[in-house]
Amino acid sequence: MKWSKTHLFTFKEAPNDAEIPSHKFMIRAGLIKKIGPGLYTFGSLGLRSLRKFENIIREELETSECQELLMPMVHPRELWEETDRWNEMGDGLLKFKNRNDQWFCLGATHEEVITDYIRHDIKSYRHLPQSLYQIQTKYRDEVRPRFGLMRCREFLMKDAYSFDRSEKEAHDSYDRLFAAYKRIFDRLGVEYRHVMADSGNIGGNKSQEFQVLAEAGEDALMVCDSCDYAANVEIAPSISSQEDYEGEAGEPTKFDTPGDRSIADLEKTTGVEAKFLVKTMFFKDEEGNSYCVLLRGSDEANDIKIKKAIGLNNPPELLTEDEVLKLTGAHPGSCGPVGLNIPVYADEALTNYKNFIVGANEDDKHIKSVNFNKDFEMAGFYDLKSAKQDDKCPSCDSGRYKSFRGIEVGHCFYLGTKYSQKMNANFLDENGKSQFIEMGCYGIGVSRTIQAVIEQSHDDNGIVWPMALAPYHVHICNLDPKDEQVTAICDSLEAELQKEKIEVFVDDRKERPGVKFKDADLIGLPIRVVVGGKGVKSDSFEVVVRKTGEKLSTSQKDLAETCRKALSQLS
Ligand code: ATP
Ligand code: MG
Repeated sequence: MKWSKTHLFTFKEAPNDAEIPSHKFMIRAGLIKKIGPGLYTFGSLGLRSLRKFENIIREELETSECQELLMPMVHPRELWEETDRWNEMGDGLLKFKNRNDQWFCLGATHEEVITDYIRHDIKSYRHLPQSLYQIQTKYRDEVRPRFGLMRCREFLMKDAYSFDRSEKEAHDSYDRLFAAYKRIFDRLGVEYRHVMADSGNIGGNKSQEFQVLAEAGEDALMVCDSCDYAANVEIAPSISSQEDYEGEAGEPTKFDTPGDRSIADLEKTTGVEAKFLVKTMFFKDEEGNSYCVLLRGSDEANDIKIKKAIGLNNPPELLTEDEVLKLTGAHPGSCGPVGLNIPVYADEALTNYKNFIVGANEDDKHIKSVNFNKDFEMAGFYDLKSAKQDDKCPSCDSGRYKSFRGIEVGHCFYLGTKYSQKMNANFLDENGKSQFIEMGCYGIGVSRTIQAVIEQSHDDNGIVWPMALAPYHVHICNLDPKDEQVTAICDSLEAELQKEKIEVFVDDRKERPGVKFKDADLIGLPIRVVVGGKGVKSDSFEVVVRKTGEKLSTSQKDLAETCRKALSQLS
């Protein structure tokens, strides 16, 4: 393909909203263009890369007994009401009415639609197992779309669904799809981890994420340094040493703590170490019910764990300062659990705390000598805090967590019969007994993965494409497009390589060599070939490997062979 025939425009500067390198480079290299928050057009180069990833996914899923189908993006409200997710999904689901006053939503995920699709046909155990997938646009009305393709409103997802006769067979399907995911991400050549994860409002009780490791990732991961245990911090168990603490004995007594707003302030005033002070936080669920959560002063609350402990569908929200004031009569910093008529959940690290200090629910005052279940009632002790680097591994004896940041590119869920029960998707087993179908679902963020790969593979000058996803393999810089001899060499190299399915992009624009080299680095195809008038005269051409910067000098006769060799070392 010739640049002059392509709609490709590169940019020296990235827009202000592009904060991370992959986002900047994708925009600057013309791979994507924004049309609104979280909405992007893919240019031809970006689309080529996307299609290559889709094909890798297709190849690996087809060999895993998974068949492709395509479902609609617009879903009738009634289907989502069958599973209660019309309401549970909240504002993330974009809902609208048609001219006949009927409600629809844009597909944020397709469990309802696919369960409806199969339930009409599957009647007998003989029709199972089945695994189906699609590669399709999803819409989620994300509150804050950012980082380009990482968190979009409209994005491309591959979603697969498995249907089985029994829990055992459903786990076999899960394992088969999980293995396919490993092959898919191995083929990209990216560094990734699979980690235990929360099931969110998809449901089910087993879920694992595939995470591409990158500093800019939104997810925090805890990875054991000694066994293969790894988990998203959202659920990574935090095993604390449950130290004993015993403060001043006596009846609960208020004391002055003027101006103390933080644990650090209180540490100074009281001389008690932060980890022995009890921090009080307030959360509310979607119905507006409030909850009090107690943690050691040195720990961070984990809203996913709190969600689980309380038994909510979605993570609770922190109360605002005004809401805290209304609930407790004091500003945050002076609040505590005593005298409130709401459920109190405490982190299990506090189990052996006695006579501790909490806020008095009166500005600038705290209470000392407070005890669980004596001075206030407890809903229970749970693991409510986020795990930290160096915490003990829950799976082996000697390991400690190391923390990483990751970009979630894939997610496998074992769903059980959550959807089949609600949507009445059943079959007759060998004994003629009606059973609900066992399900699993498996997503890959196709568009997000493209950017995650770039986030892991770039340098200061631009993208460094891995072979598997590079829009083209070879970038020929024709330095003298008006020179017939130079252009003839470019054309014949292009034709020769293309015969061998090596994809070639030729920069035949009337631009200075410096501009062409900069753009070649920015676009980041695996190898660059430089063909100019001077080289023709001296029969000397340069082949540059983008990843290493290695420069190979070659004659016209050996040009194609040098490209082949350089490429074979990259794949
Ligand atoms: P996140 O936690 O990042 O919001 P999720 O857990 O809600 O994602 P899933 O329901 O597991 O997402 O969707 C499957 C995959 O789709 C994710 O692993 C991710 O790669 C991709 N994905 C989800 N939301 C977005 C988004 N807003 N933009 C781009 N890709 C997304
Ligand atoms: Mg997920």
